[in-house]
Amino acid sequence: MISVEEALTKILNSIQILDSEEKPLLDCLGQVLAEDVYSPFDVPPHDNSAMDGYAVQAGGIKGASHKNPKVLRVVGEIAAGKVSDLKVEPGTAIRIMTGAFVPNGADVVVPFEDTDEIERKETAISKTEIGVRVSLTEGCNIRRRGEDIVQGELVLAKGKLLRPADIGLLASLGKSMVQVIRRPLVGILATGNEVADINRPLLPGKIYNSNSYSLAAQVLLYGGVPKLLGVAPDNEEQLTAAVRGGLQCDILVTSGGVSLGDYDVVKQVLAAEGNVSFWTVRMKPGKPLAFGMFKRGDGKEVPHLGLPGNPVSSMITFEVFARPAIFKMMGRSNLTKSNITAVMEDSVGNKDGRRIFSRVVVTRRDSKYFARITGPQGSGILSSMAKANGLAIIPENTREVKPGTPVEVIMLDWDEVHD
Ligand code: AMP
Ligand code: MG
Repeated sequence: MISVEEALTKILNSIQILDSEEKPLLDCLGQVLAEDVYSPFDVPPHDNSAMDGYAVQAGGIKGASHKNPKVLRVVGEIAAGKVSDLKVEPGTAIRIMTGAFVPNGADVVVPFEDTDEIERKETAISKTEIGVRVSLTEGCNIRRRGEDIVQGELVLAKGKLLRPADIGLLASLGKSMVQVIRRPLVGILATGNEVADINRPLLPGKIYNSNSYSLAAQVLLYGGVPKLLGVAPDNEEQLTAAVRGGLQCDILVTSGGVSLGDYDVVKQVLAAEGNVSFWTVRMKPGKPLAFGMFKRGDGKEVPHLGLPGNPVSSMITFEVFARPAIFKMMGRSNLTKSNITAVMEDSVGNKDGRRIFSRVVVTRRDSKYFARITGPQGSGILSSMAKANGLAIIPENTREVKPGTPVEVIMLDWDEVHD
């Protein structure tokens, strides 16, 4: 038996980062940037107002207060989006809206609420003048040109996982097309004479193909593009054809046929098609696993991951081995998830020295996490996987986890915020 880490290292050593593609900005969410992006200009491009108010000269409102307002002559108004050649001179003010370019001569913006504008609106006091009721230092309420980004600055570096703020940042630079590492096309092939397509009536002795769908959903969740290759029966000819049909993908994931069953011709076919190793991994569920490289006609090698057929085993081995492989192909630098520590509320026995991935529901109470087993833990019981939001890790060398013990939990649905 090999350890989970040993298996993962072997897999990742054979996985390459994919090439890049240029795509419209919004399509790049969740992909890794493949170019350094520098700013073609200052952001903001001009000093602009952070408030609705009056652009004035700080020197002219020194000592102003509610009791003793400084009255200035209003010489114009600038709305956001408008460019004005109006100038603020001593003794004058220009009415200005948030985001509007600050006119020449002004060095401070006085918010409306620090003026007597409302009283002037309600009464007959001259509207061509404004009373300023505060004294503000130079630069107050002005967003300076280049205060966010300076022209020529490296804004986002190659390797950055693009999240919503990055998409916005790129938009603020006017970048409509972006070079990103492409998403992997993941071929998914189910195997087994008993496994039936979900679009057909279920005949005696058959079960529906759930694996292809749970695995394809995991591929989608983690940023890959699934390609369903159907179900191949346990017969050499059809299985070989199906495997070959999947070699246009960036990685081929099969389910079933890698354990010791009498009818597992899958192993023979896989072994014949490439350089495939069959492992027993020290984990539960998911002990049998295959990994190898298939040679394509054009000489290119396509990695193949052979997951066990049991529906929960295939999902958990996907989480542990295929997810990091997909992340690596996508150019992500951090391949691990940010696991949490939770207090186990049930007991879990571990008899045979394997690492157990227990399906749990994690809840938060009094700023602490607690984990409860979701129900029967058989590797075919998909409903208890559906109830789980995490996988509690019971270490190989722990014979029993008693209620109250802290355990590490892989959160299944948490969005990753790191690269
Ligand atoms: P195997 O690894 O091929 O021996 O399969 C182990 C168990 O998983 C058997 O009970 C299979 O019927 C079941 N199984 C295999 N493939 C699938 C599938 N695509 N969908 C649902 N169950 C499957
Ligand atoms: Mg089978």
